[in-house]
Amino acid sequence: MSSTDTTTPSETKLTSAEVVQITKDTNYGTWRYQKGWNPLHIVDAEGCYITDGNGKKYLDFSSQLMCMNLGHKNPAVIASIAKQAEELAYAMPGYATTTRAELSKLLLEVLPKGLNKFFFTTSGTDANEAAFKIARMYTGKTKIIARYRSYHGSTSGSIAATGDPRRWAMEPRGKGPGIIFAPEVNCYKCPIKHTYPTCGIACVDYLEHMIRNESDVAAVIVEPIVGTNGILVPPSEYMPRLRKICDEYGVLMIADEVMAGWGRCGTWFAMDLWGVTPDILTTAKGITSAYVPLGLCATTEKIGDFFQDHYFSHGHTYEAHPMTLAPAVATIKEMQRLGLVERAKELEPFVEEKLQALKAKHRSIGDVRGKGLFWAVDLVKNRETKEPFNTYVDKVSGKPLVVDQIAGKLAADGVMIQAWVSHIVIAPPLIVTKEELEKGIDALDRHLSIADELC
Ligand code: PLP
Repeated sequence: MSSTDTTTPSETKLTSAEVVQITKDTNYGTWRYQKGWNPLHIVDAEGCYITDGNGKKYLDFSSQLMCMNLGHKNPAVIASIAKQAEELAYAMPGYATTTRAELSKLLLEVLPKGLNKFFFTTSGTDANEAAFKIARMYTGKTKIIARYRSYHGSTSGSIAATGDPRRWAMEPRGKGPGIIFAPEVNCYKCPIKHTYPTCGIACVDYLEHMIRNESDVAAVIVEPIVGTNGILVPPSEYMPRLRKICDEYGVLMIADEVMAGWGRCGTWFAMDLWGVTPDILTTAKGITSAYVPLGLCATTEKIGDFFQDHYFSHGHTYEAHPMTLAPAVATIKEMQRLGLVERAKELEPFVEEKLQALKAKHRSIGDVRGKGLFWAVDLVKNRETKEPFNTYVDKVSGKPLVVDQIAGKLAADGVMIQAWVSHIVIAPPLIVTKEELEKGIDALDRHLSIADELC
């Protein structure tokens, strides 16, 4: 064997069945019972399509967890990874690299104005961990107010701040320190039983009430448009009002844009919908279109300045890893070149119209809501009571969920869709065409009878 030969004599190609079996035997399937895990073998993907081990093609209607905004196999992003690997695969975090400077310059162009100091991580979870530490070090305070029906990550701090029941398995060990919960904003199923607009957005008033009655509040963290928990879009007054409240009480505003950012909502960031700049913005996923794992915690200059003469007690070996930054540069340039933010905005009325038509046709649809290319179809047993088919308790008890049955039928029909407890998410790559949108929504139309029959 020559020194350049990369194959070994014993190397044989695994069958699809072997790939699945080895994966199940040796890996954890996350957020699930291990015994029910039967992963699909994915072998290829291009544009908005994914191919499995049997050669079956699927339309990717979730961008793989709302990540692949650019779609699969973007040549410019792929080239950027190869180029970076050849030039400089790794440098310790303390060094300046050209790629790091290039990305920082681009971020100044696209982030909400005023966010100009960056800490690069490798996921959304650790971007939020960084945000909490920075908020606590900067303010000298401890408590973080988060909201129910939110997800902020899976490590100790970020799962403690997660409002949805994924937190439960870690309680009380993972509780806090100092995390308290405010009601979510959900005008379809208001947790405090109000109706917009006569409510005067009482949920944000309640958040102010919490700040007034708590001591030691460092920050409020919000998903500007809540992702996994149902694409919850706040009324247009909510974020500007929350910004004012935070300023009045000296509390930092953290916007978790891990899912909602990067053009998904028809603006570069969801906060741009209301012209609000948070004190800290966290993001991941779309920053590289998920070609490599990268997260970002961006702060204002004022917070950055604080650490000029206060020790910045934070860091990771892989922070600002050149291999993660180069594809982010390429992703942003590709998004600009292809006009994908504008495209998501342009396609918004088309998707809305199609989904409203579905709602008119299917009695199991209680609500459709969203922005850009980020939509939820919320299923209910009864439109009057808004009772869902399933709750999170059903999910963790392993009961078959109605939304999973529908997603299974769609997959058989060649459309991959994200379903969560009682709603279905529509979030294709931002390069999607009207024809592809129609194809996916038509498939959903065909299988909603499963839910209709249970109403
Ligand atoms: N925050 C939000 C809003 C998310 O949607 C997610 C993941 O889905 C996270 C944080 C955690 O990001 P990651 O899975 O990259 O750690």
